Amino acid sequence: MAGSFWCLVEDDRQGNPKKVMAEVLGEAGRLASQAGGQAEAVWLTDKATEAGIKQLGEWGAKRVLLLENPAFAPYRGEVWAPVLAELCLKESPQAFFGAVTARQREAMARLAARLGAGLSADSTALALEDGTLVATRPVYAGKLLSKMTWAKMPWLATLRPNVFKPADSQQGAVAPVEKPAVTLPAAVMSLVERREDSSTGLPELAEAEIIVSGGRGLKGPENFAILESLAKAIGAAVGASRAAVDAGWRPHRFQIGQTGRTVSPKLYLGFGISGAIQHLAGMRTSKVICAINKDPEAPIFKIADYGIVGDLFEVAPLLEQEFKKLLEK
Ligand SMILES: Cc1cc2nc3c(=O)[nH]c(=O)nc-3n(C[C@H](O)[C@H](O)[C@H](O)COP(=O)(O)OP(=O)(O)OC[C@H]3O[C@@H](n4cnc5c(N)ncnc54)[C@H](O)[C@@H]3O)c2cc1C
Repeated sequence: MAGSFWCLVEDDRQGNPKKVMAEVLGEAGRLASQAGGQAEAVWLTDKATEAGIKQLGEWGAKRVLLLENPAFAPYRGEVWAPVLAELCLKESPQAFFGAVTARQREAMARLAARLGAGLSADSTALALEDGTLVATRPVYAGKLLSKMTWAKMPWLATLRPNVFKPADSQQGAVAPVEKPAVTLPAAVMSLVERREDSSTGLPELAEAEIIVSGGRGLKGPENFAILESLAKAIGAAVGASRAAVDAGWRPHRFQIGQTGRTVSPKLYLGFGISGAIQHLAGMRTSKVICAINKDPEAPIFKIADYGIVGDLFEVAPLLEQEFKKLLEK
C-alpha cells in the first residue's frame, strides 16, 4: 500500500522483538507521518507472542503482518527472501526497513536483488526531500558520507543500531494483526543446526549502550577478564580489535571494525587499541569515545572525545572503582 513504511522484525527467537526495533519503527513512523502514511511491522517467525505483538503496537506499528511458520526459524535467506518479495509485490509498500543485523543485512540484500530495487545498507540518516527518501551511509571505512536515493519503490534500507531515535512507547496502542497467505518455497538446503549457548551474561554488542573494547595492548586472552569485570559493573558489552581476534583471544563475533561489527553505542571505551582506520570504521559513530592508551601519539586519540594516556592495567581497575562509586550514589 502506498504510504506503508514496513519494518522487518528482528526477534530474539523467543517471540519478542529486539530493542533495535524501537529504533527502526521510530524512524519509519517519523518518515511515514511526513509522507501521510504509516509504519507497519512485518514479522516472519516460528513463534510470535501476544506480548511481542503488543510491543510492536506500542512502538508505533499501525499494522502487523504476521507470518508464523516453523519454516521461518532458524533464519534461511532462501526461504525468507521469496516470501518477502511476494508480499512486496502484493502490497507495494513505499519503503521497507530493516536493522543492521546479520540476518537482516542478508535478507534485505536478497530482497533488493529479487525486486530489482535499490538498497541503502547501513544507513545512518534518512530524510524525505521533495517527497523522495534520501539516505546517508558511510563509505570508505567511514571517511566519507554518501547520499543516495532511489529510482523506484520500495525504498529499501537497513538502519545502523543506536543511531536512530527509538520510538516513544505508546502505552496501550494496539496494532491490528493480519496473517497474509504466502507461498512457502520448498527447502533447498537441509540444515544441520548445532546450537551452543555462548552468552556471556553481558549485553549484545549491537544493542549495547556502552561498549568496553580491548586490543593487542591487553597482551593476552586472560586479561579480557579485566574488561569483563569493568563491563559487568556498568552494564556494557565487550568488544575487541581484529588484532585481539586474530590472536585468538576473542571469537570473531566480538570484532569491531570494517571486517567485524559496526557499533554505535552512547559510550565506547577503547583499551590498548591503536585506532587503525579499519577499526575506526566500525565505531567512529559512537556518541562519546574514550581511549586508553600508553602511547600519546596513538591515532585513536584523534577521534576520541576523552583520552587517558596510561597503562590500561592500572587505568581499567581505577575506572571500575570510580564507576561503581558513582553508580552507588
Ligand atoms: C582489510 C583489513 C580489514 C581489517 N579489519 C579490521 C577490523 O574489522 N577491526 C580491527 O580492529 N582491525 C581491522 N584490521 C586491522 C587493523 O589494520 C589493525 O591492525 C588493528 O585494528 C590493530 O589492532 P590493535 O589496535 O588492537 O593493535 P595495535 O595496532 O598493535 O595497537 C595496540 C595498542 O595498544 C597500546 N598498548 C600496548 N600496551 C598498552 C598498555 N599496557 N596500556 C595501554 N595501551 C597499551 C599500544 O600503544 C598500541 O597503540 C583490518 C586490516 C585490514 C588490512
